[in-house]
Amino acid sequence: MKKIVVFLGAPGAGKGTAAAAVAARTGARHVSTGAMLRDAVARGTPAGLEAKSFMDAGALVPDEVLYRMVSELLAAAPDGSTLFFDGFPRNSAQAEKLGELAAAAAATVDAAVMLDVSEATLVERLGGRRTCPKCGAGYHVKSLPPKVEGVCDKCGAALVTRADDRPETIANRLAVYERSTAPVVGFYERAGLLKRIDASGPADAVAALVEAAL
Ligand code: AMP
Repeated sequence: MKKIVVFLGAPGAGKGTAAAAVAARTGARHVSTGAMLRDAVARGTPAGLEAKSFMDAGALVPDEVLYRMVSELLAAAPDGSTLFFDGFPRNSAQAEKLGELAAAAAATVDAAVMLDVSEATLVERLGGRRTCPKCGAGYHVKSLPPKVEGVCDKCGAALVTRADDRPETIANRLAVYERSTAPVVGFYERAGLLKRIDASGPADAVAALVEAAL
């Protein structure tokens, strides 16, 4: 069997940071649908062309685009592997569909990790966030700075502020989260799979809490 752990939480809650850190320690694979979409946009693939305008507006990309991506990567994952999903599912329809896609690929959703933080912290984290456009690594100007300012520790590329981390887009993404993604928490709670984590602390403390919960 293949195992899936879903990371939930608002934009800026630290899903990518925690998933990457725990994946590096446990051998799981970190899968960020947002990073895959940004890569598709940068390469100008058909999925990227379809996704771009939604992403620029801070809106959700149509479900069908995500279902294709997720079913391909589940089919390609080796038996016995564990995948950390960061950014999928993002609405109730996607949560239901993930169950079907997983079953078709001999995979199960084993846990859903919910990273809880206040709205003030989310806005602070998103505003200071810097991202590597080449390898997808995430940084924060104050809480998780790179060794050399503006340069990715992992691959040396120049860091950027994501187009959708601008203040006007941040507000829309938080509204989309409340409307579409927050109900996914209830979905996994009813399934008995939810693990709530206090994600207000520093990155290494949050990663330790997540690892202990899994
Ligand atoms: P993220 O890096 O997870 O914040 O995702 C960045 C953007 O990619 C989101 O604001 C959406 O436009 C798009 N996106 C990522 N994952 C999904 C998803 N599961 N469903 C729809 N859109 C998504």
